[in-house]
Amino acid sequence: MKVVIASTNKGKIDEIRRMLADLRIKFLSIENFPHLPVIVENGTTFEENAIKKAKTVCEWTGKITIGEDSGLEVDCLGGAPGIKSARFGGDGLTDTERNIRLLKLLKGISLGERRARFKCVLAIACPDGRINTVCGECQGLISLEVRGNQGFGYDPIFIPDGYSKTFGELGSEIKDKLSHRLVALSKAKEILLDIISKVKQK
Ligand code: IMP
Repeated sequence: MKVVIASTNKGKIDEIRRMLADLRIKFLSIENFPHLPVIVENGTTFEENAIKKAKTVCEWTGKITIGEDSGLEVDCLGGAPGIKSARFGGDGLTDTERNIRLLKLLKGISLGERRARFKCVLAIACPDGRINTVCGECQGLISLEVRGNQGFGYDPIFIPDGYSKTFGELGSEIKDKLSHRLVALSKAKEILLDIISKVKQK
């Protein structure tokens, strides 16, 4: 069975492929469909954006599609960057530049007051029109400086609860066991298994 991941973010696609590797599914990404229309992420929640990505790509490709929307919420910034995580600080910045921008905004705030969480919503759209959504969170703190170079996005400034290192330092071995994406994908796995079993019965 082929399932499309409606994302161009290599970091996310790699994580989804790794975490669902035991399902007998070949994962495609939207890069396999170069003529797809551009999807404008104009929803007001992670869920709206994930559904929009899944629905658009599923309708266009005729294949089961996983739409993913995720981001970082920092309490002392009123939940920002939130759904704007990918564009925080402006278009065209590197991940490191975005991380430095965010750290500047938190200057003078102690580590204990830097509560934050990653959120991930996955929407699974089927060609018959059914859509299921699941979500996952990972709580932690924003570090005082950029640390580590593994992962992607805000990984080098996010210290998950129970650790003193950032995801950028801990790497995929630890991140894959406790991340927001892992939590959401564990729930998505059940749904995908159900879909696979029904396709087999037909
Ligand atoms: P979008 O879901 O494509 O709008 O992008 C979400 C943005 O949130 C990404 O570009 C990253 O900057 C950030 N993000 C989402 N998940 C993670 C993660 O697991 N680690 C680090 N940054 C993340």
